[in-house]
Amino acid sequence: MASTKVKAIVIGGTNVKEKDKLLTLFSLEDGKISVSMKGVRGEKAKLKSAKEVFTFGEFVIEEGKYSKIVTSVDVIDNFYALSADIEKYYEACGVIDVLNKIATEPNPQLFIETIKALKTLCYEDVKKYYVIDKFLLSIFGAMGYGFLGDKCSSCGAKLEKKYFNYSIGEIVCPACRTMQSEEISGACYSALKLLNNTDYDNLHTIKLGGLGEVQAYNLLAKNFEYRTGFSIIQLV
Ligand SMILES: [Zn+2]
Repeated sequence: MASTKVKAIVIGGTNVKEKDKLLTLFSLEDGKISVSMKGVRGEKAKLKSAKEVFTFGEFVIEEGKYSKIVTSVDVIDNFYALSADIEKYYEACGVIDVLNKIATEPNPQLFIETIKALKTLCYEDVKKYYVIDKFLLSIFGAMGYGFLGDKCSSCGAKLEKKYFNYSIGEIVCPACRTMQSEEISGACYSALKLLNNTDYDNLHTIKLGGLGEVQAYNLLAKNFEYRTGFSIIQLV
């Protein structure tokens, strides 16, 4: 049987039969794929450490009669420490949830972005929300929305008071605001800008505090709903 090897992240899973598991992978080479792992829920299963969400590894896949079957996995990182910290765990679930909703075709940039987000959450001491904020900002950037400039995206006027127009996904001035626009506080705008301009490696150096960072997450989550039609899990 022909087999292929892909680098992938486990982004979902369902238990089937007595000991099997059906996994959703986001792979670097083939995008989102469904694969099955046979007998993987057994006590002594060789591949059992590779069946959990967040696992990042090299999966060898064979084309079975009814589905693609994983025959071996080289785990690169299972981000195990995430499960020891409930806040980080939920935020990582948020990242995977966002990925699951937008991933279809192969997308190397999105793949790398996800690994960076999980690594940062797992190994760095970064304040709550910053990693998922950064992840969402990168996704909007990749979609072509550059909404953190200093000019109104509708008329080009220099921005003093800023409104976020959810129907177009950009920032506008008071004169161009519509029913779908909400005012952005200075603290929220600075938070978004700082998060956008800071690499994952340096996110641990930022400590914003205050309402700005809460507003930033709320704006990004709401914008994600407007852009994709999917809501994302509520962070607490
Ligand atoms: Zn304007």
